[in-house]
Amino acid sequence: MTMNVTILGSNGSYPGPSGACSGFLVQSNQVKIWLDAGPGTLSNLQNLISMSELNAIIISHKHADHSSDLQGFAVANSVVDPIEEPIAIYAPDGVGDDLEPGTDKCLIWNRVHDNDQIEIGDLSIKFSRTDHGPETLALRIDHEGKSFVYSSDTGPNWSLSKLGFGIDLAICEATYLKDKEGQGRHLSARQAAISAKQAGVRQLVLSHLWPTVDPNVALEEAKAEFGQNVSVAKMKENYHI
Ligand SMILES: [Zn+2]
Ligand SMILES: [Zn+2]
Repeated sequence: MTMNVTILGSNGSYPGPSGACSGFLVQSNQVKIWLDAGPGTLSNLQNLISMSELNAIIISHKHADHSSDLQGFAVANSVVDPIEEPIAIYAPDGVGDDLEPGTDKCLIWNRVHDNDQIEIGDLSIKFSRTDHGPETLALRIDHEGKSFVYSSDTGPNWSLSKLGFGIDLAICEATYLKDKEGQGRHLSARQAAISAKQAGVRQLVLSHLWPTVDPNVALEEAKAEFGQNVSVAKMKENYHI
């Protein structure tokens, strides 16, 4: 199998009605990785695989809209039905600090930082610190000559090109429209598109839109800069690269 990325949730900052915040299931021949654990993503994950099938968890930063479902996972696998083999978790400092004491027995913590590189099964993963509040790590995953980049949250002082050029698939945050540019350490859809174009991204997926943002307007603002091969992330959608 090539690399397969499934959207478990894509709302920015809080979940909209029946929505879920940032979370993705990344699968290859050898591994299944839960990438970001925003609210709602643990539920959606279990519609695809059982929790015990996961080989690793990666959390990009400590904000609740990217990490809060980790608590449920920890309780499920440390208290309710303890797993025999703890699962590796990779995250920057701050992630997990607020977990209920005694509930993280199911996790083996690995702290990762800017420019770190790790291997998980047949996937090579590189991290890059973005322009956001707490330490936040974007990542690039390479597999059999194909590359996937996830921006996590970032302001405009970080670019997808920090993780190299000619990226096959990029899921980039696009929190708001151009009328709000500069109001937070996030990107508009237009800014995400400019960043992706400069990095030679082939396929761009806009994610982390606030539930108040019209996805069609975000798409139009992105297409004006990037071209046609851009879409807005939808829950349960699959990308094969
Ligand atoms: Zn966020
Ligand atoms: Zn954030």
